[in-house]
Amino acid sequence: MSETTSFDLVVLGAGPAGSAAAKRARTLGLSVLMIDKAIFPRPKLCGAGITPRSQKALVDIFGANVPNAYHIASRKMGFRWDGEDLAAFEGPYDFIYTYRTDFDHWLLREAEAAGAEVRQGTRVETILDQDDTLVLADGTRVTYKVLVGADGVASPLAKHLFGKAFDTDTIGFAYETEVPAPCSDQAEMTIDFGVVRWGYGWNFPKSRSRTIGVVSIRGVDQDLRAAMDGYLRNEGFDPSSVTIKGAHIPFGDYRETPGRGNVLLVGDAAGFVDAITGEGIALALESGAHAAEAAAQVIAEGRPQRADRAYYPKVKHIQADLEKVKKMRAIAYGSATRGMFKEKLRTSTRLREALFEVVSGQSSYADIEKRMAKHAMVKMVSKLGSWPQALSRKVRG
Ligand SMILES: Cc1cc2nc3c(=O)[nH]c(=O)nc-3n(C[C@H](O)[C@H](O)[C@H](O)COP(=O)(O)OP(=O)(O)OC[C@H]3O[C@@H](n4cnc5c(N)ncnc54)[C@H](O)[C@@H]3O)c2cc1C
Repeated sequence: MSETTSFDLVVLGAGPAGSAAAKRARTLGLSVLMIDKAIFPRPKLCGAGITPRSQKALVDIFGANVPNAYHIASRKMGFRWDGEDLAAFEGPYDFIYTYRTDFDHWLLREAEAAGAEVRQGTRVETILDQDDTLVLADGTRVTYKVLVGADGVASPLAKHLFGKAFDTDTIGFAYETEVPAPCSDQAEMTIDFGVVRWGYGWNFPKSRSRTIGVVSIRGVDQDLRAAMDGYLRNEGFDPSSVTIKGAHIPFGDYRETPGRGNVLLVGDAAGFVDAITGEGIALALESGAHAAEAAAQVIAEGRPQRADRAYYPKVKHIQADLEKVKKMRAIAYGSATRGMFKEKLRTSTRLREALFEVVSGQSSYADIEKRMAKHAMVKMVSKLGSWPQALSRKVRG
Protein backbone atom coordinates (compact mmCIF):
# COMPACT_ATOMS: atom_id res chain seq x y z
CA MET A 1 0.00 0.00 0.00
CA SER A 2 1.48 3.42 -0.99
CA GLU A 3 1.94 6.15 1.59
CA THR A 4 -0.92 8.73 2.03
CA THR A 5 -0.49 12.15 3.61
CA SER A 6 -3.28 14.63 4.35
CA PHE A 7 -3.35 18.43 4.22
CA ASP A 8 -5.99 21.11 4.64
CA LEU A 9 -4.79 22.80 1.46
CA VAL A 10 -2.85 21.41 -1.47
CA VAL A 11 -1.55 23.99 -3.97
CA LEU A 12 -0.52 22.92 -7.47
CA GLY A 13 2.10 25.32 -8.84
CA ALA A 14 4.62 27.44 -6.97
CA GLY A 15 4.58 30.67 -9.00
CA PRO A 16 3.42 33.92 -7.36
CA ALA A 17 -0.21 32.70 -7.12
CA GLY A 18 0.75 29.38 -5.52
CA SER A 19 3.24 30.81 -3.03
CA ALA A 20 0.76 33.57 -2.07
CA ALA A 21 -1.94 30.94 -1.44
CA ALA A 22 0.47 28.79 0.58
CA LYS A 23 1.78 31.71 2.65
CA ARG A 24 -1.66 33.16 3.43
CA ALA A 25 -3.00 29.69 4.30
CA ARG A 26 -0.15 29.16 6.78
CA THR A 27 -0.84 32.58 8.31
CA LEU A 28 -4.43 31.38 8.80
CA GLY A 29 -3.27 28.16 10.45
CA LEU A 30 -3.93 25.62 7.67
CA SER A 31 -1.63 22.70 6.92
CA VAL A 32 -0.30 23.20 3.38
CA LEU A 33 1.44 21.20 0.68
CA MET A 34 2.66 23.04 -2.44
CA ILE A 35 3.67 20.91 -5.44
CA ASP A 36 5.55 22.11 -8.55
CA LYS A 37 6.76 20.09 -11.51
CA ALA A 38 9.87 22.30 -11.74
CA ILE A 39 12.87 22.48 -9.43
CA PHE A 40 13.52 26.01 -8.15
CA PRO A 41 15.14 28.34 -8.97
CA ARG A 42 13.46 27.86 -12.34
CA PRO A 43 13.04 30.27 -15.28
CA LYS A 44 9.64 31.73 -16.27
CA LEU A 45 9.17 33.86 -19.37
CA CYS A 46 8.03 37.22 -17.98
CA GLY A 47 8.92 40.92 -18.04
CA ALA A 48 8.98 40.68 -14.23
CA GLY A 49 7.92 44.30 -13.89
CA ILE A 50 6.65 44.50 -10.32
CA THR A 51 4.06 47.27 -10.26
CA PRO A 52 3.10 49.23 -7.14
CA ARG A 53 -0.07 47.08 -6.92
CA SER A 54 2.11 43.94 -6.85
CA GLN A 55 4.37 45.56 -4.27
CA LYS A 56 1.35 46.30 -2.07
CA ALA A 57 0.18 42.68 -2.35
CA LEU A 58 3.68 41.43 -1.46
CA VAL A 59 3.79 43.53 1.69
CA ASP A 60 0.26 42.44 2.61
CA ILE A 61 0.84 38.70 2.07
CA PHE A 62 4.58 38.20 2.66
CA GLY A 63 5.25 41.16 4.95
CA ALA A 64 8.03 42.44 2.66
CA ASN A 65 8.74 43.96 -0.74
CA VAL A 66 11.16 42.32 -3.23
CA PRO A 67 14.61 42.22 -1.57
CA ASN A 68 17.02 44.86 -2.91
CA ALA A 69 19.48 42.22 -4.09
CA TYR A 70 16.94 41.00 -6.65
CA HIS A 71 15.86 44.18 -8.37
CA ILE A 72 16.53 47.61 -9.76
CA ALA A 73 14.04 50.46 -9.39
CA SER A 74 13.20 53.31 -11.72
CA ARG A 75 10.64 56.05 -12.31
CA LYS A 76 11.86 56.88 -15.81
CA MET A 77 9.47 55.90 -18.57
CA GLY A 78 8.79 56.54 -22.20
CA PHE A 79 6.08 55.85 -24.77
CA ARG A 80 7.09 54.98 -28.34
CA TRP A 81 5.22 54.28 -31.59
CA ASP A 82 7.02 51.90 -33.92
CA GLY A 83 10.37 53.36 -32.87
CA GLU A 84 9.24 56.99 -32.79
CA ASP A 85 9.61 58.67 -29.36
CA LEU A 86 6.22 60.02 -28.27
CA ALA A 87 6.82 61.04 -24.65
CA ALA A 88 9.41 60.64 -21.90
CA PHE A 89 8.43 61.30 -18.30
CA GLU A 90 8.88 60.39 -14.61
CA GLY A 91 6.34 58.12 -12.94
CA PRO A 92 4.95 59.09 -9.54
CA TYR A 93 6.49 56.04 -7.86
CA ASP A 94 9.14 53.35 -8.33
CA PHE A 95 8.58 50.45 -10.65
CA ILE A 96 10.63 47.40 -9.72
CA TYR A 97 12.30 45.22 -12.34
CA THR A 98 13.47 41.77 -11.32
CA TYR A 99 13.99 38.26 -12.70
CA ARG A 100 11.34 35.62 -12.16
CA THR A 101 14.04 33.03 -11.41
CA ASP A 102 15.00 35.01 -8.29
CA PHE A 103 11.57 36.41 -7.48
CA ASP A 104 9.65 33.11 -7.54
CA HIS A 105 12.38 31.31 -5.61
CA TRP A 106 12.22 34.00 -2.92
CA LEU A 107 8.42 33.66 -2.67
CA LEU A 108 8.65 29.87 -2.46
CA ARG A 109 11.24 30.08 0.34
CA GLU A 110 8.99 32.53 2.22
CA ALA A 111 6.04 30.12 1.96
CA GLU A 112 8.27 27.26 3.09
CA ALA A 113 9.63 29.30 6.02
CA ALA A 114 6.02 29.91 7.08
CA GLY A 115 5.55 26.15 7.39
CA ALA A 116 4.24 25.06 3.98
CA GLU A 117 5.57 21.69 2.88
CA VAL A 118 7.00 21.97 -0.65
CA ARG A 119 7.59 19.19 -3.17
CA GLN A 120 9.52 20.28 -6.25
CA GLY A 121 10.19 18.32 -9.42
CA THR A 122 6.97 16.40 -8.77
CA ARG A 123 4.06 15.78 -11.13
CA VAL A 124 0.50 14.83 -10.31
CA GLU A 125 -0.31 11.58 -12.12
CA THR A 126 -4.03 11.31 -11.30
CA ILE A 127 -6.66 13.53 -9.72
CA LEU A 128 -9.29 11.50 -7.85
CA ASP A 129 -11.94 14.20 -7.20
CA GLN A 130 -14.38 11.80 -5.55
CA ASP A 131 -11.80 10.97 -2.87
CA ASP A 132 -10.19 14.45 -2.67
CA THR A 133 -6.94 12.68 -3.48
CA LEU A 134 -3.97 13.26 -5.78
CA VAL A 135 -1.71 10.43 -6.89
CA LEU A 136 1.81 11.74 -7.48
CA ALA A 137 4.26 10.37 -10.08
CA ASP A 138 6.16 8.44 -7.38
CA GLY A 139 2.94 6.67 -6.35
CA THR A 140 2.40 8.57 -3.10
CA ARG A 141 -1.14 9.74 -2.38
CA VAL A 142 -2.05 13.13 -0.99
CA THR A 143 -5.49 14.04 0.30
CA TYR A 144 -6.79 17.58 0.59
CA LYS A 145 -9.78 19.45 1.96
CA VAL A 146 -9.34 22.21 -0.63
CA LEU A 147 -7.21 22.04 -3.79
CA VAL A 148 -5.84 25.23 -5.41
CA GLY A 149 -4.79 25.26 -9.07
CA ALA A 150 -1.97 27.79 -9.38
CA ASP A 151 -0.49 25.84 -12.27
CA GLY A 152 -0.26 28.63 -14.82
CA VAL A 153 -1.80 29.49 -18.18
CA ALA A 154 -1.80 25.87 -19.46
CA SER A 155 -3.25 24.72 -16.12
CA PRO A 156 -3.67 20.94 -16.08
CA LEU A 157 -6.21 21.43 -13.29
CA ALA A 158 -8.34 23.82 -15.40
CA LYS A 159 -8.13 21.23 -18.21
CA HIS A 160 -9.26 18.55 -15.77
CA LEU A 161 -12.25 20.65 -14.66
CA PHE A 162 -13.32 22.20 -17.96
CA GLY A 163 -11.77 20.13 -20.75
CA LYS A 164 -9.28 22.83 -21.83
CA ALA A 165 -7.11 25.41 -20.13
CA PHE A 166 -7.82 28.28 -22.57
CA ASP A 167 -9.38 29.23 -25.89
CA THR A 168 -6.68 29.04 -28.59
CA ASP A 169 -8.36 31.79 -30.68
CA THR A 170 -8.62 34.44 -28.01
CA ILE A 171 -5.61 33.71 -25.79
CA GLY A 172 -2.69 36.16 -25.84
CA PHE A 173 0.80 35.28 -27.01
CA ALA A 174 4.11 36.93 -26.18
CA TYR A 175 7.70 36.74 -27.41
CA GLU A 176 10.53 37.78 -25.15
CA THR A 177 14.31 37.88 -24.93
CA GLU A 178 17.10 39.12 -22.67
CA VAL A 179 19.62 41.38 -24.41
CA PRO A 180 23.09 41.84 -22.88
CA ALA A 181 22.72 45.45 -21.69
CA PRO A 182 23.03 45.61 -17.87
CA CYS A 183 21.23 48.57 -16.27
CA SER A 184 21.25 50.36 -12.94
CA ASP A 185 18.58 52.16 -10.91
CA GLN A 186 16.71 54.92 -12.77
CA ALA A 187 17.39 53.42 -16.21
CA GLU A 188 14.48 54.10 -18.56
CA MET A 189 11.64 51.65 -19.26
CA THR A 190 9.85 52.10 -22.57
CA ILE A 191 6.59 50.82 -24.02
CA ASP A 192 6.01 50.83 -27.80
CA PHE A 193 2.30 50.70 -28.65
CA GLY A 194 2.82 50.95 -32.43
CA VAL A 195 5.01 47.92 -32.99
CA VAL A 196 2.15 45.37 -32.93
CA ARG A 197 -1.63 45.49 -33.23
CA TRP A 198 -3.79 44.72 -30.15
CA GLY A 199 -0.83 44.79 -27.82
CA TYR A 200 2.54 46.46 -27.30
CA GLY A 201 6.26 46.01 -27.02
CA TRP A 202 8.23 46.50 -23.78
CA ASN A 203 11.85 47.23 -22.98
CA PHE A 204 12.49 46.81 -19.26
CA PRO A 205 15.80 47.66 -17.55
CA LYS A 206 17.31 44.87 -15.44
CA SER A 207 20.48 44.49 -13.41
CA ARG A 208 22.11 42.02 -15.85
CA SER A 209 20.23 42.76 -19.09
CA ARG A 210 17.26 44.42 -20.75
CA THR A 211 14.11 42.33 -21.17
CA ILE A 212 12.47 43.05 -24.50
CA GLY A 213 9.21 41.55 -25.68
CA VAL A 214 5.96 41.92 -27.56
CA VAL A 215 2.45 40.76 -26.65
CA SER A 216 -0.78 40.54 -28.59
CA ILE A 217 -3.81 38.30 -29.08
CA ARG A 218 -3.26 35.08 -31.02
CA GLY A 219 -6.39 35.52 -33.16
CA VAL A 220 -5.16 38.84 -34.62
CA ASP A 221 -3.90 38.40 -38.17
CA GLN A 222 -0.25 39.50 -37.95
CA ASP A 223 3.20 37.93 -37.89
CA LEU A 224 4.03 38.49 -34.23
CA ARG A 225 7.45 36.85 -34.56
CA ALA A 226 8.39 39.23 -37.39
CA ALA A 227 7.07 42.13 -35.28
CA MET A 228 9.38 40.99 -32.45
CA ASP A 229 12.39 41.05 -34.81
CA GLY A 230 11.40 44.51 -36.06
CA TYR A 231 10.98 45.77 -32.52
CA LEU A 232 14.40 44.48 -31.48
CA ARG A 233 15.98 46.27 -34.45
CA ASN A 234 14.11 49.50 -33.51
CA GLU A 235 15.55 49.17 -30.00
CA GLY A 236 19.07 48.75 -31.40
CA PHE A 237 19.58 44.98 -31.10
CA ASP A 238 20.18 42.30 -33.74
CA PRO A 239 17.43 39.65 -33.44
CA SER A 240 19.75 36.94 -34.75
CA SER A 241 22.17 37.51 -31.84
CA VAL A 242 19.69 36.62 -29.07
CA THR A 243 17.45 33.71 -28.02
CA ILE A 244 13.78 34.55 -28.44
CA LYS A 245 11.16 32.49 -26.63
CA GLY A 246 7.36 32.53 -26.82
CA ALA A 247 4.58 31.79 -24.34
CA HIS A 248 0.83 32.08 -23.99
CA ILE A 249 -0.58 34.74 -21.71
CA PRO A 250 -4.25 35.07 -20.74
CA PHE A 251 -4.45 38.63 -22.08
CA GLY A 252 -8.18 39.24 -21.35
CA ASP A 253 -9.19 35.58 -21.22
CA TYR A 254 -10.40 35.26 -17.65
CA ARG A 255 -12.65 32.48 -16.30
CA GLU A 256 -16.08 33.46 -15.06
CA THR A 257 -16.22 30.40 -12.77
CA PRO A 258 -12.66 29.88 -11.57
CA GLY A 259 -13.14 26.50 -9.91
CA ARG A 260 -15.71 23.99 -8.80
CA GLY A 261 -16.63 22.80 -5.31
CA ASN A 262 -13.45 22.47 -3.28
CA VAL A 263 -11.16 23.06 -6.28
CA LEU A 264 -10.19 26.71 -6.91
CA LEU A 265 -8.21 28.28 -9.77
CA VAL A 266 -5.98 31.30 -9.16
CA GLY A 267 -3.61 33.56 -11.14
CA ASP A 268 -3.01 32.59 -14.79
CA ALA A 269 -4.91 29.32 -14.29
CA ALA A 270 -8.00 31.52 -13.80
CA GLY A 271 -6.95 33.85 -16.66
CA PHE A 272 -6.40 36.80 -14.31
CA VAL A 273 -4.21 39.11 -16.44
CA ASP A 274 -4.96 42.76 -17.32
CA ALA A 275 -6.02 42.94 -20.98
CA ILE A 276 -4.32 46.31 -21.60
CA THR A 277 -1.16 46.30 -19.48
CA GLY A 278 -0.53 42.53 -19.44
CA GLU A 279 0.07 42.70 -15.69
CA GLY A 280 -0.60 39.35 -14.04
CA ILE A 281 1.65 39.16 -10.98
CA ALA A 282 -0.53 41.41 -8.78
CA LEU A 283 -3.68 39.47 -9.67
CA ALA A 284 -1.88 36.16 -9.10
CA LEU A 285 -0.78 37.25 -5.62
CA GLU A 286 -4.19 38.67 -4.71
CA SER A 287 -6.26 35.74 -6.02
CA GLY A 288 -3.89 33.24 -4.38
CA ALA A 289 -4.42 34.92 -1.02
CA HIS A 290 -8.20 35.08 -1.56
CA ALA A 291 -8.33 31.34 -2.33
CA ALA A 292 -6.49 30.59 0.93
CA GLU A 293 -8.90 32.83 2.87
CA ALA A 294 -11.91 31.10 1.29
CA ALA A 295 -10.38 27.69 2.11
CA ALA A 296 -9.75 28.66 5.75
CA GLN A 297 -13.33 29.89 6.10
CA VAL A 298 -15.05 26.76 4.72
CA ILE A 299 -12.67 24.36 6.48
CA ALA A 300 -13.48 26.09 9.80
CA GLU A 301 -17.19 25.68 8.98
CA GLY A 302 -16.61 22.01 8.17
CA ARG A 303 -17.91 22.53 4.58
CA PRO A 304 -14.88 22.45 2.25
CA GLN A 305 -17.09 21.65 -0.76
CA ARG A 306 -18.39 25.21 -0.52
CA ALA A 307 -14.94 26.71 -1.15
CA ASP A 308 -16.02 27.97 -4.58
CA ARG A 309 -18.96 29.88 -3.05
CA ALA A 310 -16.63 31.50 -0.53
CA TYR A 311 -13.98 32.28 -3.19
CA TYR A 312 -16.07 33.76 -6.03
CA PRO A 313 -17.27 36.87 -4.15
CA LYS A 314 -13.66 37.59 -3.14
CA VAL A 315 -12.47 37.73 -6.79
CA LYS A 316 -15.61 39.32 -8.23
CA HIS A 317 -13.96 42.76 -8.25
CA ILE A 318 -11.00 41.34 -10.21
CA GLN A 319 -13.35 39.79 -12.78
CA ALA A 320 -15.51 42.93 -13.03
CA ASP A 321 -12.41 44.97 -13.78
CA LEU A 322 -11.09 42.44 -16.31
CA GLU A 323 -14.46 42.61 -18.10
CA LYS A 324 -14.28 46.40 -18.13
CA VAL A 325 -10.68 46.44 -19.39
CA LYS A 326 -11.55 44.01 -22.18
CA LYS A 327 -14.07 46.55 -23.45
CA MET A 328 -11.81 49.55 -22.89
CA ARG A 329 -8.90 48.01 -24.80
CA ALA A 330 -10.98 48.35 -27.97
CA ILE A 331 -10.46 52.12 -27.52
CA ALA A 332 -6.72 51.73 -26.99
CA TYR A 333 -6.03 49.02 -29.56
CA GLY A 334 -8.93 49.12 -32.07
CA SER A 335 -7.99 50.26 -35.60
CA ALA A 336 -10.67 53.02 -35.69
CA THR A 337 -9.16 54.78 -32.66
CA ARG A 338 -5.45 53.99 -33.18
CA GLY A 339 -4.60 57.49 -34.41
CA MET A 340 -6.37 59.13 -31.48
CA PHE A 341 -4.67 56.74 -29.00
CA LYS A 342 -1.24 57.60 -30.45
CA GLU A 343 -1.97 61.33 -30.08
CA LYS A 344 -3.17 60.87 -26.50
CA LEU A 345 -0.01 58.92 -25.63
CA ARG A 346 2.03 61.86 -26.87
CA THR A 347 0.06 64.64 -25.19
CA SER A 348 -2.37 63.46 -22.53
CA THR A 349 -1.15 63.67 -18.94
CA ARG A 350 -4.70 62.58 -17.97
CA LEU A 351 -4.19 59.23 -19.77
CA ARG A 352 -0.81 58.74 -18.11
CA GLU A 353 -2.23 59.52 -14.66
CA ALA A 354 -5.09 57.06 -15.24
CA LEU A 355 -2.63 54.29 -16.17
CA PHE A 356 -0.52 55.04 -13.09
CA GLU A 357 -3.58 54.88 -10.86
CA VAL A 358 -4.58 51.49 -12.29
CA VAL A 359 -1.14 49.89 -11.96
CA SER A 360 -0.82 51.18 -8.41
CA GLY A 361 -4.20 49.69 -7.50
CA GLN A 362 -5.50 53.15 -6.45
CA SER A 363 -8.25 53.11 -9.10
CA SER A 364 -10.15 50.46 -10.99
CA TYR A 365 -10.93 50.63 -14.71
CA ALA A 366 -14.54 51.28 -13.69
CA ASP A 367 -13.35 54.45 -11.85
CA ILE A 368 -11.41 55.53 -14.94
CA GLU A 369 -14.41 54.89 -17.20
CA LYS A 370 -16.65 56.96 -14.92
CA ARG A 371 -14.12 59.79 -14.96
CA MET A 372 -13.80 59.61 -18.78
CA ALA A 373 -17.60 59.77 -19.13
CA LYS A 374 -17.75 62.74 -16.72
CA HIS A 375 -14.98 64.53 -18.63
CA ALA A 376 -16.75 63.91 -21.96
CA MET A 377 -20.00 65.18 -20.43
CA VAL A 378 -18.35 68.36 -19.08
CA LYS A 379 -16.82 68.99 -22.52
CA MET A 380 -20.18 68.46 -24.22
CA VAL A 381 -22.01 70.73 -21.76
CA SER A 382 -19.43 73.49 -22.17
CA LYS A 383 -19.80 73.20 -25.97
CA LEU A 384 -23.60 73.32 -25.61
CA GLY A 385 -23.22 76.35 -23.34
CA SER A 386 -21.38 78.21 -26.09
CA TRP A 387 -24.08 77.42 -28.70
CA PRO A 388 -26.47 80.27 -27.84
CA GLN A 389 -23.64 82.83 -28.22
CA ALA A 390 -22.48 81.23 -31.49
CA LEU A 391 -26.07 81.14 -32.75
CA SER A 392 -26.81 84.76 -31.84
CA ARG A 393 -23.54 85.81 -33.56
CA LYS A 394 -24.72 83.94 -36.68
CA VAL A 395 -28.22 85.53 -36.49
CA ARG A 396 -26.69 89.01 -36.07
CA GLY A 397 -24.56 88.15 -39.14
C1 LIG B 1 6.28 37.19 -21.83
C2 LIG B 1 5.48 37.57 -20.62
C3 LIG B 1 5.77 38.74 -19.96
C4 LIG B 1 5.05 39.09 -18.80
N1 LIG B 1 5.41 40.23 -18.12
C5 LIG B 1 4.77 40.56 -16.97
C6 LIG B 1 5.21 41.68 -16.19
O1 LIG B 1 6.18 42.36 -16.51
N2 LIG B 1 4.51 41.99 -15.06
C7 LIG B 1 3.43 41.25 -14.66
O2 LIG B 1 2.81 41.59 -13.63
N3 LIG B 1 3.03 40.16 -15.35
C8 LIG B 1 3.68 39.78 -16.48
N4 LIG B 1 3.30 38.65 -17.17
C9 LIG B 1 2.23 37.80 -16.63
C10 LIG B 1 2.78 36.94 -15.49
O3 LIG B 1 3.93 36.26 -15.92
C11 LIG B 1 1.74 35.91 -15.02
O4 LIG B 1 0.49 36.53 -14.90
C12 LIG B 1 2.15 35.29 -13.67
O5 LIG B 1 3.33 34.53 -13.82
C13 LIG B 1 1.05 34.38 -13.13
O6 LIG B 1 1.50 33.70 -11.99
P1 LIG B 1 0.97 32.25 -11.62
O7 LIG B 1 1.56 31.90 -10.31
O8 LIG B 1 -0.50 32.22 -11.80
O9 LIG B 1 1.52 31.28 -12.76
P2 LIG B 1 3.06 30.91 -13.16
O10 LIG B 1 3.96 32.00 -12.76
O11 LIG B 1 2.99 30.50 -14.56
O12 LIG B 1 3.37 29.64 -12.24
C14 LIG B 1 2.78 28.41 -12.50
C15 LIG B 1 3.61 27.31 -11.86
O13 LIG B 1 2.90 26.07 -12.00
C16 LIG B 1 3.82 25.05 -12.29
N5 LIG B 1 3.10 23.96 -12.95
C17 LIG B 1 2.59 23.93 -14.19
N6 LIG B 1 2.02 22.75 -14.43
C18 LIG B 1 2.16 22.02 -13.29
C19 LIG B 1 1.78 20.70 -12.90
N7 LIG B 1 1.16 19.88 -13.74
N8 LIG B 1 2.08 20.29 -11.65
C20 LIG B 1 2.75 21.10 -10.80
N9 LIG B 1 3.15 22.34 -11.12
C21 LIG B 1 2.85 22.78 -12.34
C22 LIG B 1 4.88 25.71 -13.15
O14 LIG B 1 6.12 25.00 -13.12
C23 LIG B 1 4.97 27.10 -12.50
O15 LIG B 1 5.99 27.15 -11.52
C24 LIG B 1 4.01 38.26 -18.34
C25 LIG B 1 3.70 37.08 -19.02
C26 LIG B 1 4.44 36.73 -20.15
C27 LIG B 1 4.13 35.42 -20.85
